[in-house]
Amino acid sequence: MNRHRLSKSRYMSGHQCHLRLWYDVHERDLMPLIGEVQQAKFDTGNEVGDLARERYPGGHLVAHDYRHIPQALAETRRLIESDGAPALFEAAFQCKGVLARVDVLERMPGGGWRMVEVKSTTRCKPEHIPDAAVQLWVLRGVGLDVRDAGILTLNRYYIYDGIRLDLDALFKLHPVFDEASALLETVGEDVGMMQEMLASDAAPEIAPGSHCFEPYECWYYAHCTRNIPQPEHGIRELWGIRANRREELESMGIAEVRDVPHDFPLSGLQSIIRRAVIDGHDLEYGNLASALATITPPVRYLDFETFQPAIPRFAGTRPYDQIPFLFSVHTEVDGSSPSPEHVDYLHEEGDPRPMLIEHLLEALGDEGSICVYSGFEQRQVKALAAAFPQYADALNSVIARLVDLLPIVRRNYYHPDFHGSFSIKSVLPVVAPSMGYGDLEVADGLVASVWYARAVASADAGERRHIFDNLRAYCARDTLAMVEVRKALVALAQADA
Ligand code: SF4
Repeated sequence: MNRHRLSKSRYMSGHQCHLRLWYDVHERDLMPLIGEVQQAKFDTGNEVGDLARERYPGGHLVAHDYRHIPQALAETRRLIESDGAPALFEAAFQCKGVLARVDVLERMPGGGWRMVEVKSTTRCKPEHIPDAAVQLWVLRGVGLDVRDAGILTLNRYYIYDGIRLDLDALFKLHPVFDEASALLETVGEDVGMMQEMLASDAAPEIAPGSHCFEPYECWYYAHCTRNIPQPEHGIRELWGIRANRREELESMGIAEVRDVPHDFPLSGLQSIIRRAVIDGHDLEYGNLASALATITPPVRYLDFETFQPAIPRFAGTRPYDQIPFLFSVHTEVDGSSPSPEHVDYLHEEGDPRPMLIEHLLEALGDEGSICVYSGFEQRQVKALAAAFPQYADALNSVIARLVDLLPIVRRNYYHPDFHGSFSIKSVLPVVAPSMGYGDLEVADGLVASVWYARAVASADAGERRHIFDNLRAYCARDTLAMVEVRKALVALAQADA
């Protein structure tokens, strides 16, 4: 049998789906290019991995990369036998065609080794166990005396003092030795089956299903579903439908919302969605006029852009705290002016929050409603009030004036073209088709945070200006979109009057 070498990541691919692994090995051209958000995730993983090594002073990095595996294996062997380094990073081992590069291999005081897998998450997830198990299987297979194993994650409860990162508190080691050991036999069987499957020139026949998203969204999904006709209004559009209910419908062969039986239990909103799809037009329900009457002039519209550093950078913050760096406010002075006034603020250097709060309070004034879309802005203002108590009263007054347009839409209006989503990106093209994001270089919050991180790290003034201008344009479009959504809702309510 022609045996293909497996790595830890290939094993995890095969653990999710054999077809995914087969594509990884035999059809590499199908793999989509890595986008900038995905690349930023990889970079974060590398940054966390590098920092984790500092917890092990005197540790030795096996630096040979994937193009020099024999050298990495030889160096690892030498270091293990030399009894010198207290820890090895990226140590390489190979057993029965499976290669493992271990993030940290720590020499234990009483003898033997602890295997540590570093993750940039804040908790140990179920999928981390087979990930550790396959490495343990390799290490045991080459005869290494491994006596412990752990997943090292960031500690979400660690608060940075702004002076020095306390690495013992920043990281948290989750013991997984027993759980991983319990999987060793299964790993051996899996490896055998994967190698046998990979030896075939024919791809295994596996139909797409829920496994394509668990534990990771598979990047071959578009390819695997290319010939499968997609429902016009699939049952996933039934807002908030539970997995067991969806599976029940699927088991009855029902893919379209319009085919859901009338006696099938649905929530109130799900029933409205089915009605709108069957009737083929929008539906108004609830009381739109009274919901909109809670909005008082001058009407402002607020949107934040944030970034989430895995490793805290500012005093008082924790791993993955959301840090607002930009806001946009549009204001309709009399509640209906044709071109609302615009103010924004983008912080370019250091902790954005103190200056952002000052500018925000000025931009929001002290009267009138502040429209937002979703609870995101409220959470940011609350976090700012908690972090900067000197502004708490003023920020709490801002919170008291917030009006969330999203639940107003959800409780009062549905259009089949929302396709089950009430996000502003789904609602805007339906209620205000003349406005979109297609002309913008940045048209997504995740991309915005990646671009911001790139700009603040850049020494190129031209690049920084280009990015900052695009970020401001994107944030301004979000608040203008809210202006348009509210305008459309007002028109709907007036048409009913
Ligand atoms: S999309 Fe689904 S079926 Fe296709 S390779 Fe990925 S996990 Fe397997």
